[in-house]
Amino acid sequence: MFDKVLIANRGEIALRIHRACHEMGIQTVAIHSTADNDAMHVRLADESVCIGPPPAKDSYLNIPAILSAATITGADAIHPGYGFLSENARFAELVEEHGFTFIGPTPEHIRMMGDKIVAKQTAAKLGLPLVPGSPGPVDNLDEIKALGQEIGYPVLIKAVAGGGGRGMKVIDSEAQAEEAFTLARQEATAAFGNGAVYVEKYLGKPRHIEIQILADTHGNVVHLGERDCSLQRRHQKVLEETPSPALNREMRERIGGLAADAIREMGYRGVGTLEFLFQDGEFYFIEMNTRLQVEHPITEAITGIDLVREQIRVATGGTLAFTQADIKFAGHAIECRINAENPETFVPSPGRVTDYHPPGGLGVRVDSALYAGYRMPPYYDSLVAKLIVAGTNRNECLMRLRRALEEYVVGGIDTTIPLHQRLIAQPDFVNGDYNIHWLERLVGLKK
Ligand code: ADP
Repeated sequence: MFDKVLIANRGEIALRIHRACHEMGIQTVAIHSTADNDAMHVRLADESVCIGPPPAKDSYLNIPAILSAATITGADAIHPGYGFLSENARFAELVEEHGFTFIGPTPEHIRMMGDKIVAKQTAAKLGLPLVPGSPGPVDNLDEIKALGQEIGYPVLIKAVAGGGGRGMKVIDSEAQAEEAFTLARQEATAAFGNGAVYVEKYLGKPRHIEIQILADTHGNVVHLGERDCSLQRRHQKVLEETPSPALNREMRERIGGLAADAIREMGYRGVGTLEFLFQDGEFYFIEMNTRLQVEHPITEAITGIDLVREQIRVATGGTLAFTQADIKFAGHAIECRINAENPETFVPSPGRVTDYHPPGGLGVRVDSALYAGYRMPPYYDSLVAKLIVAGTNRNECLMRLRRALEEYVVGGIDTTIPLHQRLIAQPDFVNGDYNIHWLERLVGLKK
């Protein structure tokens, strides 16, 4: 087992990893920028190293500084969390080359899934169903027009290096193809330094359903059920739940089994998530994330499995302590992502937190690095808390969630708590009747 783990992240996820480490008797090293001197992850860790100025590129993305921090503190392993360097294959490689263990998959698997075309080709070979579309990158307008004819409009242009929904453009008819193609390539170049794009059939009313996978290095693979992440704004998840109101047991076992078989065949290690769109009873693979997901706690709530502890165990060469048959899905869980943003305009709202009172009680978990007096810096993601509520069934979970949101006090900055209150009061949500476009219609982004 490791003696010391460096956590290459900040905010709630750094705390989450710290907690798993301490329960396992592992010491932690926090890294931080000068903007985060007073951050909770720095306060809780056993040691901390300041690795640079506020901009992420000079601190949380500064690979030489992070490797030096691991060296001077004598860490055995590095946990990347999510975001930042978590899906950077070169970082994973350098971590291992410097003699530390990377708590995550191999650089090869990160690289493979980071290129969406290679990911889709791999998924197809592994027997996963895909959204109809171009088999590779599309580099001229005629190809797009031919595809439009073949698969029918609307179609979606997506960035090969995509992430966070950037570089995506919907084309409703051939007349819009030229402009959308130009814009998508420009956006992709600006966001990822890679303008390559591909085309998919645009699905009109899908749900986003993803399967959590866990694999050790001895060929054991399990799936931990699905998460329904259809409530999105600008392709960013807002609220997630498990089980999905749209799946029955047979569908869950079918897609979970397919996903686990694919992962076993790949020889993948650690946690991973296969994302699918689901429409009219069919699943379509869109991408795989080779890291811990923001929404992992809802899976923990219904399976009782600590995913970060399992990541660490797998990284030390441990064998999974359970088989698929041992995994029981009990109850229902929902996560609300609480951002420091105006709940109507979504303008970020950094600043000083004057009051802080998180909700408590049975079935309530809050993952957050906030505290009263904390000054939230403007440089990073606006996610400041995750409220995760579990109940024996969906109805109980909703009752508890309503109560927990009422109880939550964050003073001094705007948060999206009122948005969640509004959202969960909608009859469609209560009935589980929503798809990936539903929330944008609610907030007036879409007709
Ligand atoms: P990114 O890596 O940029 O997040 P994804 O491929 O994961 O891109 O897609 C993000 C979101 O965009 C999905 O959850 C879904 O809401 C929407 N989306 C992606 N592909 C399609 C599609 N073919 N049709 C309709 N919506 C899509």
